[in-house]
Amino acid sequence: MEILNRSALELRDLLDKREISSRDIVEAYIKRIEAVEPRVNSFVTLTLEEALKDADRADEMIKNNTQTVLTGIPIALKDNMSTYHVKTTCCSKMLENYLPPFDATVVKLVKEAGMPILGKTNMDEFAMGSSTETSYFGPTKNPWNLDYVPGGSSGGSAASVAARETPFSLGSDTGGSIRQPAAFNGIVGIKPTYGLVSRYGVLPFASSLDQVGPFARNVADSAALLSVLAKHDSLETTSLKGPRPDYLNALGRDIKGLKVGVPKEFFIDGLNKEIEAAVKKALDALKALGAEIIDICLPHSDKALATYYLVATAECSSNMARFDGVRFGHRSENVKDSVTMFKHSRAEGFGPEVKRRIMLGTYALSAGYYDAYYLKALKVRRLIKEDFDQAFSQVDVIVTPTTPSTAFKFGEKVQDPVSMYLSDVFTTTANLAGIPALSMPAGLSSNNLPIGVQIFAPRLGEEIMLNAAFALEKALGSIGLPTLEV
Ligand code: GLN
Repeated sequence: MEILNRSALELRDLLDKREISSRDIVEAYIKRIEAVEPRVNSFVTLTLEEALKDADRADEMIKNNTQTVLTGIPIALKDNMSTYHVKTTCCSKMLENYLPPFDATVVKLVKEAGMPILGKTNMDEFAMGSSTETSYFGPTKNPWNLDYVPGGSSGGSAASVAARETPFSLGSDTGGSIRQPAAFNGIVGIKPTYGLVSRYGVLPFASSLDQVGPFARNVADSAALLSVLAKHDSLETTSLKGPRPDYLNALGRDIKGLKVGVPKEFFIDGLNKEIEAAVKKALDALKALGAEIIDICLPHSDKALATYYLVATAECSSNMARFDGVRFGHRSENVKDSVTMFKHSRAEGFGPEVKRRIMLGTYALSAGYYDAYYLKALKVRRLIKEDFDQAFSQVDVIVTPTTPSTAFKFGEKVQDPVSMYLSDVFTTTANLAGIPALSMPAGLSSNNLPIGVQIFAPRLGEEIMLNAAFALEKALGSIGLPTLEV
């Protein structure tokens, strides 16, 4: 039976009817991984033997009728999520051989749900980047065109779903690392409300911005996976308390009367014309479904990128301090005293982008500059949040492009950090404000690369966001997935 082209929820149906087993599914995906992985390089560690054992356990659960919605459906995990005794490297030399002694909470949740884990996916080093080119293990290729980047930092997670190496993956999003690669790969990616999903055991980049979220091929699958992940976690202080809804139940509601805000600040000069046209088409589709399109202002949006790159680097410089060659990470050899050991271990273990961020962050936090940079950034962050509060007093969701351009070629931006940072111009505001946002496909460019449309919702507005996305997906139709002929 054809397995790779089915959605996760279709597979659920077939599993429950006993027409296929989880082992069949995992075997089909293993074959696919073996066929395309040498060209795509989505994974840095494969756990295929273990995945087959997980599949047998899932089949047992199904036999005993103890399955949940995603039992038996495989998943891949970004390599910054701690996995018990399975390498978790953050794609850095610093953690090249790190074997965590525990599972991150999200890993525990997918295991409890009975989802076989296929492996760990490639990423920019410590999640700092927009192309996977900063990975210590070499970049992932975009399955739509192997000359192009898959985006980042969760590029391996996104490419693995687009290449049909897995129906699902998890990523993390600090400033766009789920939504930008989702856009570049023509799939759905969600950055949940800050605190909705546990960060416990996920190696931090910028703790006040980081969130874990799902990648999937369509909105309904992503809603099902979000329901698995969204749980209060007593191990994490920023985890929100209280029950979470079943996000699948939110889908399929009429969107007549839905108020959709369109911020003019996101339709900037540098925006690719085909992306602009695709977003306009998406807005027309929502209007045809009865939504009301309303022009809004998010006046501080042009400050978001600068604010993000101060807050994120400041928190990064503090989070990276733990990698000293003593408690964690690579330790330099042949050093005679402890201070040179720290210096050499960090100089050898971190790549150039991570070092750049540590330097920027340390500078922004240093005496004399703290007020001028970090403190000012916190104040602007507040203004950005207030812009959203104001906007959401008028509208239910906000629709924008996800990225200013489609995927770019390898090498195009990696030598020019500012142009790389500009790929985050539309995504960072959601992290700064703590609100949910998703990216979904909105068409293909003339050179056959996916275009993403972004939907923001108010804090804990995942249901309304997903319902709007579900309606839009149905109206726009699918762009399909790249074939990557084998
Ligand atoms: N591309 C952004 C950066 O380099 C976002 C990274 C992320 O979300 N982890 O910081």
